[in-house]
Amino acid sequence: MHLESKIVHIGVNTDPQTGSISTPIYNTASFAHPALGQSTGYDYTRSKNPTRQVAEDGLASLENGTAGFVFPSGMAAIAAVLLLYKPGDHILLTDDCYGGTYRIFQNIFAKFSIDFSTVDTTSLSAIESSITPSTKAIFIETPTNPLMKIADIAAIAKLCRCNNMQLIVDNTFLTPYFQRPLDLGADIVIHSGTKYLAGHNDLLCGVVIVHGEQLSEKVKFIQNAAGSILSPFDSWLLIRGLKTLALRMQRHNDNAKKIAAWLQNQKHITQVYYPGLPTHPGKTIHDKQASGYGGIISFAVDNAALVPQILNKVTFIQFAESLGGVESLITFPARQTHMDIPEAVREKLGITDKLLRLSVGIESSEDIIADLKQALQ
Ligand code: PLP
Repeated sequence: MHLESKIVHIGVNTDPQTGSISTPIYNTASFAHPALGQSTGYDYTRSKNPTRQVAEDGLASLENGTAGFVFPSGMAAIAAVLLLYKPGDHILLTDDCYGGTYRIFQNIFAKFSIDFSTVDTTSLSAIESSITPSTKAIFIETPTNPLMKIADIAAIAKLCRCNNMQLIVDNTFLTPYFQRPLDLGADIVIHSGTKYLAGHNDLLCGVVIVHGEQLSEKVKFIQNAAGSILSPFDSWLLIRGLKTLALRMQRHNDNAKKIAAWLQNQKHITQVYYPGLPTHPGKTIHDKQASGYGGIISFAVDNAALVPQILNKVTFIQFAESLGGVESLITFPARQTHMDIPEAVREKLGITDKLLRLSVGIESSEDIIADLKQALQ
């Protein structure tokens, strides 16, 4: 079945008793047992819930994984994955990553002696020379947030296999519609489902999809034992949002390609970060592993004073955190999403006070461009 069809049919035929097309919301904490020692397959919603199960199975099938798990936020999903590791383990992390990911490594898991170091994951040799005898995993984003750097998933997966490490890929920016890291050898895929998967800026959720029974059992245990689960209603909202994923991603992609090209020709814009641009240094690798570029564009202006001007003047595009929803949003990473990354590190990477990140929505690209045009004047 084509991915577009699989997406639409998530949850269809899951209620043979009524034939309900939409997945029923099983808003219950507990399930009655038919008799001692018997179960309907469901006992308590923290362990398993039919609505959540539809979302989890559906997402696992889109990413070609063994099992999927949904959490109340992307950060909760990342926390669950980091709980797989033990004191003394070391994890390599993409240097340019979502600020909250850096923060959970630095301010929470480091306290429990899960050591980490950051590395430029566009460079295989930089990764290789950062591996220590304690390195148990590499955690990458590709494209990265916010500088849209590209890592070679298959090559890093190979390196991981040779060194007995796991590869974790945050696939939030592209979704399985454009990129499926497990097919390229990754072990774990993470999403902030808040973004494109749910897609409507109305829900927080996180997703973990794993390859292999062993990892599946471990994450299942952590989800139940630590109790971080998506509610039945939010699981339903996620399923509902997912139905239009293919259409939305195509539109985000088409719009972003036009807007990135337009931004490149504007006087006060010094750099546009978008892997769909022929000038992007990671384009060849990206084209090898993904079938689209997504809807996120970062750009730098020539004068820091232009940043507050743009943020104040946009009317149609909303000045707000987050990304991946149907509405276009613009964010100032240095002051918002990446504030917890030390300033010197940010500056070195290029997350400066001249950088903005645009999440291109599914509106008319002409309206988005018109708003940017008047904001730049
Ligand atoms: N991963 C990426 C790439 C993100 O951009 C974000 C949030 O912006 C997260 C993870 C965290 O997700 P959430 O905000 O749903 O907790």
